[in-house]
Amino acid sequence: MPTDDTKDHTRMKVVPIMTKRCPFCSAILALSEKQCPSCKRKVGDPDKNGVAEIPGRWKTWVSFIVAVVVVVSYFAYGRQIIAFVKGIFG
Ligand SMILES: [Zn+2]
Repeated sequence: MPTDDTKDHTRMKVVPIMTKRCPFCSAILALSEKQCPSCKRKVGDPDKNGVAEIPGRWKTWVSFIVAVVVVVSYFAYGRQIIAFVKGIFG
């Protein structure tokens, strides 16, 4: 009696990513590596392409967002801030 077992042989198996690639020198690293042994630079978790992310990039984004918030709040509340400062210093 025929079965569908043969389908399992042709089906692609999902292989979990066990390595990641250094974004600086393209060396293959273990997932747990926090520093590339080849170029000695710090690496983060792999993205969906298996390339390790560059740690510290989020700090750039955070400082960018903080700068935007400061500028926006200056234009939005600038008069109130100036009035507040004038109120303190006379
Ligand atoms: Zn490297």
